[in-house]
Amino acid sequence: MKIGIIGTGYVGLPTGVGLAELGNEVTCIDRERSKIEALQSGKLTIYEDGLEELFRKNVASGRIKFTTSMQEGVSSADLVIIAVGTPPHPVTKEADMKYIHAAATELAEYLNGYTVVATKSTVPVGTGDDVETLIRKKNPNADFDVVSLPEFLREGFAIHDFFNPDRIVIGANSERACNLLRDLYKPFEHKTKILCVKRRSSETIKYASNAFLAMKIHYINEMADFCEKAGADIYEVANGMGLDNRIGNKFLNPGPGYGGSCFPKDTNAMAYMARQNGVTLSLIEAAIKGNDLRKSLMAKRIINVLPEKDNPKIAVLGLAFKCGTDDCRVSPAMAIVENLLAEGAQNIMAYDPKAMDNAKKVLGDKIAYADDAYAAANGADVLAILTEWEDFKHLNLGRLKEVMRTPIIVDLRNLLDPQAVKEAGFAYSRIGQAC
Ligand code: NAD
Repeated sequence: MKIGIIGTGYVGLPTGVGLAELGNEVTCIDRERSKIEALQSGKLTIYEDGLEELFRKNVASGRIKFTTSMQEGVSSADLVIIAVGTPPHPVTKEADMKYIHAAATELAEYLNGYTVVATKSTVPVGTGDDVETLIRKKNPNADFDVVSLPEFLREGFAIHDFFNPDRIVIGANSERACNLLRDLYKPFEHKTKILCVKRRSSETIKYASNAFLAMKIHYINEMADFCEKAGADIYEVANGMGLDNRIGNKFLNPGPGYGGSCFPKDTNAMAYMARQNGVTLSLIEAAIKGNDLRKSLMAKRIINVLPEKDNPKIAVLGLAFKCGTDDCRVSPAMAIVENLLAEGAQNIMAYDPKAMDNAKKVLGDKIAYADDAYAAANGADVLAILTEWEDFKHLNLGRLKEVMRTPIIVDLRNLLDPQAVKEAGFAYSRIGQAC
């Protein structure tokens, strides 16, 4: 199948590479010239585990190419996938549809023969209708169907998730469009449930799923706070809960709060959409509020253990919103750093294995940056672990103790072995377990 993908970001690029690997002819389109030039010259523009190898292989085979030209990507396509951003509106927090509307308008004139236009971006209910209207207005004679094709990949596991989806949801009001997408995903039909539903149901499934996951994370985080005070152990509690099939054992890991480019914006967009429809989603509203507050509580936790020293230094390990990605968007780690600064911390040095460049674009010289974990910890009075990178699990505690001025660790990802840390002579705190 010939496929054009509009938007070559964290969703569009892994999706394009995955679809090329399945044997399709893919053209990735992006309006950012520098991104396309980098990709054309063989340089990846994002970090995702496992992406590089497949990218190289499919570029070499000629199954994937990159362009800034909408005409080049759309005019010969059987399927056009829209994967542009839907960021939150700065005031209302509703999904900002300007990129979707621009993409729909720009692609319209190049549709050529029957084409399915599938929206992979996370979009409010009714967006399919708007996209259809915009295309029809610009190109009244076009032969096309608009489909909702929500994306469920997890950053850091994008390639894994592309090839092992839990489900594929196709929201189509036309059987012809649904069948084209069923054909596309045929390689997965032996192992994955493919749902064909109404377009508006599909748009809702994505938001309802993300909001539910965000609430689940917030629930276990609050339960962890309770365990710390009540002398219970959050892992024993989560295990006991998770063995109930109705609850399930996933997403019961306590931490500093949910973040990333999806959960915060999608919970807000869902709540806004509900309010517009005269419905109050009180659980989602509570999770949004509680999760926002959590970042400042986590920063206070770090500040509260800082010893009274001259110019106390905070070493921060991790800035990405989670491991396996360089994405810092709405990262809890970044929010905690911002909160530390707001609390008056003046001496912060951070290290992240992949996200340093992205973090620098946001934090600039408000903090210092180190080349590795030990350099960050050098002379520090507290070490705060904020992202769950595998490397941080294997820190040499003896070496850390030697370089730090005060041996205190606040482990907001519960990565370290409490016994080993204490034996190494650190004061140590973690989430949901009294140490
Ligand atoms: P992104 O910001 O990484 O990428 C979007 C890309 O679209 C950018 O490169 C931008 O230059 C390009 N673009 C915007 N308008 C364009 C236009 N008119 N023509 C060509 N290119 C254009 O965004 P992302 O993280 O890939 O997310 C895309 C969508 O997928 C969002 O709606 C998001 O909510 C959803 N989603 C994201 C994830 C995730 O893990 N990142 C998971 C599931 C769903």
